[in-house]
Amino acid sequence: MDTTRSPTASPRHRLSTRRRAGSQAHHHPAHDLHEHGVAAIRNFLRCHTCYDAFPVSFRLIVLDTKLTVKKALQCFLLNGVVSAPLWNSQTSSFAGMLTVLDIIHLIQYYYRTTDFERAATEVETFRLESLRAIERHLGVAPPPLTQEHPSNSLFDAAKLIIQTHARRLPLLDSDSETGQQVVISVLTQYRLLKFISINCHKEIQQLHLSLKRLRIGTYVMSPSPDPSNPYFPLATAKMDTSVFDIVHIFSERSISAVPIIDEDGVVLNMYETVDVITLVRLGAYQNLDLKIREALTQRSSDFPGVVICTASDSLGTLLQLIKKRRVHRLVVVEGEEEEKRGGKKGRLLGIITLSDVLRYIVGHADISEPRMKPSTASTEAPSSTPIS
Ligand code: ATP
Repeated sequence: MDTTRSPTASPRHRLSTRRRAGSQAHHHPAHDLHEHGVAAIRNFLRCHTCYDAFPVSFRLIVLDTKLTVKKALQCFLLNGVVSAPLWNSQTSSFAGMLTVLDIIHLIQYYYRTTDFERAATEVETFRLESLRAIERHLGVAPPPLTQEHPSNSLFDAAKLIIQTHARRLPLLDSDSETGQQVVISVLTQYRLLKFISINCHKEIQQLHLSLKRLRIGTYVMSPSPDPSNPYFPLATAKMDTSVFDIVHIFSERSISAVPIIDEDGVVLNMYETVDVITLVRLGAYQNLDLKIREALTQRSSDFPGVVICTASDSLGTLLQLIKKRRVHRLVVVEGEEEEKRGGKKGRLLGIITLSDVLRYIVGHADISEPRMKPSTASTEAPSSTPIS
């Protein structure tokens, strides 16, 4: 993997192409090997519980629904987290998850209706328990109240995450004495994929087929059915788009990032929901008026960078990358192959998020595959240290 600097001085990382199998015919040995690898990974997930994927030690931050949004945001920033389970202390029960997207919806709601100053005060004094009413008002899908018992299988947990678009799954048990709910942990898409990448080393090496061929991710349609957006169905922005316009896109489409492109569609950077949260920290809501060009200069210096790949990179390479670093999404750009056909190196082709990868690994969520014979399945206990 080689690391390059993007024109906006934010580090970009290129996913190396180890093997190009995108043009292989069906039932070719490479295809069979790939299918075998995927089946073994599914079986691995069926044979392990959510408990198995727990890190050796972890912190769990649970927020009371009576807290104000301001306090919750401070808590996110202080602890470096982007989501937390909510707890209703009146009923002593779990009350769903608070995520960055909830905050984005809230900003969208207030800034559509009022001026910056009032909005800032109102956003900050707003209590978490009333967030669901805002989401209903905006007509956006409410976050699912999904939960799972930690001793259920990782395969069922992954299926639930995909079916409900939950992105993260709170794991709940009940206290044997009081019968009360107890939040044990939260299983994220990243932790699930990292657990696979650590423990299914052999299987991952079999995943030779390309990301584009496997249709993992969302790709630009050619020709575009929407004359106003040549990159349809991708939502993109330019350096002079305002942060608030991007907040609107995030809220309307319930997505977490947009690629920032130039006039030719070449990817310059990426803007994410977490960037918005750091931008409005300390109540600086007027920053939403900034252009992306200016907002990017306020990004913290430990921003991990934008990861780019080409359509011919393989799923195996991507999982190897997930093992090494905390990557949440990749931008797919045109590479040498596209350039030969008149394309332009670095031009936007697609976006791949962790839910896209997990959806592929779980397969069609309603299929129930027969278990593999023990001799071919990877059912042994995790061979390396779980994620910490
Ligand atoms: P998280 O929000 O925690 O990163 P996720 O993995 O579901 O979770 P999202 O950004 O919410 O990531 O993506 C949801 C779906 O929308 C995915 O299928 C992804 O390919 C697609 N998507 C993501 N970003 C864009 C975009 N800018 N334009 C169009 N589709 C996108």
